[in-house]
Amino acid sequence: MVDQKILIVDDEKLNIMALAHFLKQQYEIIVAVDGESALEAAEKHLPDIILLDIIMPNMSGFDVLLKLKDSPITMNIPVIFITGLNDAEDEEKGLSLGAVDYIKKPFNQTIVKARIKTHLKMADYIKTIEKLCMLDALTGLPNRRGFDKQIEAEFGRACREKQPLGLIMLDIDDFKKYNDTYGHPQGDTLLQTIADILTKTLHRASDIAVRWGGEEFCVLLPDTSGEGTFNIAEQIRMNIMNTIVPCNTGEKTKVTVSLGAYSKIPENGDLLADFISNVDKFLYSAKKSGKNRTCTA
Ligand code: GH3
Ligand code: MG
Ligand code: MG
Repeated sequence: MVDQKILIVDDEKLNIMALAHFLKQQYEIIVAVDGESALEAAEKHLPDIILLDIIMPNMSGFDVLLKLKDSPITMNIPVIFITGLNDAEDEEKGLSLGAVDYIKKPFNQTIVKARIKTHLKMADYIKTIEKLCMLDALTGLPNRRGFDKQIEAEFGRACREKQPLGLIMLDIDDFKKYNDTYGHPQGDTLLQTIADILTKTLHRASDIAVRWGGEEFCVLLPDTSGEGTFNIAEQIRMNIMNTIVPCNTGEKTKVTVSLGAYSKIPENGDLLADFISNVDKFLYSAKKSGKNRTCTA
């Protein structure tokens, strides 16, 4: 199965062919013959690994690596130097700049293959761990860490494109009592049910529901006005209020939630923290004024 991509960078076409020859059965091969085109190819194709020569005209492999590490798009792609330079000093330099490995020419095909396989596996583990770190294990929704990245990006985009960004924050009413009455595992089931209701209530691919904390959830609504944000908050509230959550005691349990809803076209200089704190204030008002309601601007 050819599903992983290798970018081979070398100014000698013969060297590229020597590598491509025994790697092409297993991997998709992309090639570049100088530093500039290597950087372009890396950004365009996002290879899973880069095999990089060091001595090349104009831009050395060391410089290419520095530039790759400089860009958030390419910084995590593993780079292996494959080079004619034999000095320990060069190897030390290559590794300290962030290459994952350093292979000297002439190379042994089997060893190159084995090392590539190992580094691809490691990179895959890292990607999986990064993904898991951003997900809440109980509900499968993004967690706060995952959300921080997304809201930052959406806030910046809304500001640039002068589009309103909607945010809803919701908190389960009297959840402590629910836990005390039905037990903590049933409380967990309720959290999962609420996550499902959020996912089902949101229709646009760009809408994002997250578990913000213990019993608090957020919904981010790009390109959504204040009215639209309020309407979705109310749909969520009604859908939760009307859902029966079965309990293993046979009881049919129900809960309500309180919500804060807010939308704004962010302006240059606006702080994301202020935007979030506004929504938090509306949620607080909803709690203070009797729960099971949405407060908005
Ligand atoms: P209010 O209506 O004012 O929000 O009251 P509340 O009881 O919902 O809020 P409070 O902040 O007093 O209690 C929150 C409860 O949420 C207490 C805590 O044990 C529970 N909780 C937080 N995370 C989890 C979780 O992962 N699973 C379960 N089962 N309970 C959780
Ligand atoms: Mg609560
Ligand atoms: Mg709370």
